[in-house]
Amino acid sequence: MEERKPLIAGNWKMNLDIGDAVNLVRSIGASLAAGGTDREVLIAPPFTSLQAVKEAIGDSRIFLAGQNMHWEMKGAYTGEISGRMLQQVGCTHVILGHSERRTLFRETSNMVDLKVKSAVLLGLIPIVCIGESLEERESDRTFAVLEDQLNASLQNFRADELMPGSTILAYEPIWAIGTGKTATPEQAQEVHAFIREWIEKTFGQVPAREVRILYGGSVKPSNIEELMSMPDIDGVLVGGASLKADQFIPIIHYGT
Ligand code: PEP
Repeated sequence: MEERKPLIAGNWKMNLDIGDAVNLVRSIGASLAAGGTDREVLIAPPFTSLQAVKEAIGDSRIFLAGQNMHWEMKGAYTGEISGRMLQQVGCTHVILGHSERRTLFRETSNMVDLKVKSAVLLGLIPIVCIGESLEERESDRTFAVLEDQLNASLQNFRADELMPGSTILAYEPIWAIGTGKTATPEQAQEVHAFIREWIEKTFGQVPAREVRILYGGSVKPSNIEELMSMPDIDGVLVGGASLKADQFIPIIHYGT
């Protein structure tokens, strides 16, 4: 059985100007060139830095992702970016349905589903985010909420009865994002195992084995090793700590 390669992904959100973004990616590239890890590394800079960051990536093994996209290929959608546009600047992946998109910009799971479909048609790998709020967790609704999000955000996969093994899911409990509160490795593992079971019951054993499930929520150098020791945690989606070389690089090289 092929192993799921650990993926360390950084979501830079609306941070770093172009010069800082280029400097950070150069530092990450240099740390990878120095060797010691074959982990996959991915960064999602703001749209305006993508081109410059792609050039700075050069030959280093860093994947580039958009933080969002529209599901249409082109048209009168002021302020939006298409998947094709992301590809033109070198993106191979796209983050979809981040909780900040869902809560601050009223993105629904139906919209996420349209985006996932469009991304996959283009050959972009979607990183589909799901996660429960504190109130949902405290009222024991975590699994029901996540199941609803999965069902609705992956409707097109369900209609086709096919989930590409390259799809990436990210479990990001909203109460742990940017708050300094991390889910314990056991809490995260419990949810990741639930998600993997959902994939198996919905799409079968092969995608359940292949799909990588990332954890996101206040990941830092001090908790990465424990999180990554869990059998169903295949990587991490890092926000705040991905903005600083002295935090993100140790996360990439955890345990080495
Ligand atoms: C995120 O927004 O995807 C995230 C996990 O942020 P942070 O690491 O800052 O909690």
